[in-house]
Amino acid sequence: MCGIIGYTGERPAAPILLDGLRRLEYRGYDSAGLAVSSGAGFTCVREAGRVSALADKVAPSSLPATCGISHTRWATHGAVTEANAHPHLSSDGCIALVHNGVIENHLALREVLLAEKFSFVSETDTEVLANLIALLYRGLDEGNPVDRFTEAVRLALGRVQGTYGIAALCREAPGHIIGARLGSPLILGVGAGEHLLASDAAALVSSTRNVVYLKDREVVHLTPDRFSLSTISRQSVSAVVSKIAWSVEDTEKGDFSHFMEKEIFEQPAALENAMRGRFADDESSPKFGGLNLTPPELRRIDRLLFCGCGSAWHACLSARYLIERYARIPVDVEYASEFRYRNAPLAKDTLVFVLSQSGETIDTLAALREALAKGYRVLAIVNSVGSTIAREAEGGIYQHAGPEIGVASTKAFTSHLMLAAMLAVYLGRMRDLSFTEGCRLVAGLRRAPGLARQALDLAPAIRSVADRFTHFDDMLFLGRQQMFPLALEGALKLKEIAYIHAEGYPAAELKHGPIALVGPQCPCLFLAPNDEVLPKVLSNVQEVKARGAPVILISTADAPIPDGLADEHIILPACPEPVLPVIAAIPLQLLSYYIAVNRGCDVDKPRNLAKSVTVE
Ligand code: GLU
Repeated sequence: MCGIIGYTGERPAAPILLDGLRRLEYRGYDSAGLAVSSGAGFTCVREAGRVSALADKVAPSSLPATCGISHTRWATHGAVTEANAHPHLSSDGCIALVHNGVIENHLALREVLLAEKFSFVSETDTEVLANLIALLYRGLDEGNPVDRFTEAVRLALGRVQGTYGIAALCREAPGHIIGARLGSPLILGVGAGEHLLASDAAALVSSTRNVVYLKDREVVHLTPDRFSLSTISRQSVSAVVSKIAWSVEDTEKGDFSHFMEKEIFEQPAALENAMRGRFADDESSPKFGGLNLTPPELRRIDRLLFCGCGSAWHACLSARYLIERYARIPVDVEYASEFRYRNAPLAKDTLVFVLSQSGETIDTLAALREALAKGYRVLAIVNSVGSTIAREAEGGIYQHAGPEIGVASTKAFTSHLMLAAMLAVYLGRMRDLSFTEGCRLVAGLRRAPGLARQALDLAPAIRSVADRFTHFDDMLFLGRQQMFPLALEGALKLKEIAYIHAEGYPAAELKHGPIALVGPQCPCLFLAPNDEVLPKVLSNVQEVKARGAPVILISTADAPIPDGLADEHIILPACPEPVLPVIAAIPLQLLSYYIAVNRGCDVDKPRNLAKSVTVE
């Protein structure tokens, strides 16, 4: 949450900052601002609203400065107002600061600063840090301004509790930017005669693909022609420069109306990428290069724990069905946000998997650290190469799905499902699955991209279903067994982008409560593929029809569905079982997308949400 970009070089900073903010806007979009060094101080422009509103307010040509910082906010402390938008200036005008995260001890620090005659114009926790750096800078009367500035940032960060990714400017050190992180992502971009600092590589690729991923408690000092990395406790760190694998085109919408639509249609390619190079030569099993566990070690695992948040948590539930079915290993599933505090007793040889698209989800990161601290092996399935979770896990699987910018997860979700299915077969082959069974399942997995294309061909039909269901305010999503996590995901998609109240339930649970909601104003969507529980699901359909609920049925071509059972019937191709969740997700995504578009919702930037949840 929240996007930061800073620039120092030879080019005017303002257009680069505005372009970077546009590319980072999915991380937070309630207000935006920038500050550039100018003469005796800073020029600071802020706006409560989107980056486009900020751009209208800034006349880049009137800001020739070549060093600046900027921010797009997802408010945690203080309302969405211009006064609370970043950058924040210290009250003596010495320091400008942008911040992602939460300063938990901001109230106590505010008292200290008020006593020192600093004043406040915002309600944010961030302004406290700007003033604290200024106070400490003032107290350091030896050394040049750059060294004092760096030291003041270090000292200030030593006094704050909470999380931060920051970029700061000092009036007396023009052209210098200091960045630091703890719990919030920050990436250095290394260009020719220029350096950048951003929350996400998406903001850097138009300037450079050479990056350094900062680690927690690292401080970076940028000038146009050099950078240096150290820890908050002043140890120097040697930087590892990596190359971003994707290009600026991958972060653009192209001919699509929304990133979400583009990413839905990118799913066949994302599934190909998830599978590439990951099958044994004899095609009897998937294989993974980065788990950093030997087959005997994997063979000994007798319990798994899957942790994630949001859609990734739904993917964890799907992993449970698949792994328990094919590998017969018991799987526990936890919300990462609960696991970190629950102190759950885990079996001795539990292997932990954490799932996160961004690799920066703070709760998932905390769950990973908690499990590592307790001595468990932790592996990660993440999309963002070089992200904090990817680095801190002992091994894992990269999704290679390409950048996902739409706030509602689509291709990263199905890619997680795909990798969960592959993992289930992989672990199964080390146990009871025969060679022949392995070959049959691998052949099924390989069909996923083609089946996804066939599901996407249903888009026009799903659009007309959406047209009929746009005006409802409630909807139930129902499925059993491995369709239950999909029911949850379908309901989440509709809630988050179309603002329709929706609930996902195992279909048989209807009678234990939710059926009280059912009626002509509460449509029910059933996931009813051809599986062993189909007759039961069809009975559940009859139960809601008897109470007048409009019914959407999503089934597969091989499912025997009586004519006229549903008001709307979406028929997916018949799918091999392990890829069924992947394919069933697609009509749910399309339905929510078209309903949200019909309702005039801002699909890529749904209200109150932001991508990559980096605050607790
Ligand atoms: N806590 C800060 C604020 O509310 C930063 C929030 C963010 O990460 O965007 O302004």
